[in-house]
Amino acid sequence: MGPGERVVEDWSSLRTTERARMTEACTRCGACFAACPMTAHAPATAGADAAATVAGVLGILAGGAGDAAARAWVMACGRTGSCNAACPHGVNPMLLMRLAKFEGQENGTLPKRGAADAMSRVKAFARLTLTEEEQRSWL
Ligand code: SF4
Repeated sequence: MGPGERVVEDWSSLRTTERARMTEACTRCGACFAACPMTAHAPATAGADAAATVAGVLGILAGGAGDAAARAWVMACGRTGSCNAACPHGVNPMLLMRLAKFEGQENGTLPKRGAADAMSRVKAFARLTLTEEEQRSWL
C-alpha cells in the first residue's frame, strides 16, 4: 500500500460519514461540473445549470432521483479528478459522484452498467489522455 492510502474497514460507516460531510461542505457553486471533461460525452448535461446539476447529484446521494442532467453526469464520470482540482471547498466531488452512483444503483434510480457501456466510457476517457497517434493505434 502506498503513502497516504488507508484500509477502509467499515465501508458503510464511511459512506454515511462522507455523505454528511459532503452535503454540509458543498456550496453548490457548480465549479466541479464546469471543470468536468466528461460532460462532453453525456448529451443530457448539455446546457444544464451547473449549480442545479450538483444539487441533483446531492439529491441522488440522499436517495432521491435527481434530474436528468445529474443522472447523466453521474453515469458519465470517468474519474478524471478535474472536479477535485476545481473544488474550492475540499469536498472531493469525485468521491461524491462515486457515492451518488452507488446509492442510485442500489435503489434503482440509476442503471447498472454492462460491459459494452464500460468500454465506451474507457474510450472516452482514453481520448483525454492519449496522443492522436496512440488513439489511431489503440482505439
Ligand atoms: S463539490 Fe465543490 S466545486 Fe462542486 S459544487 Fe460543491 S463546493 Fe462547488
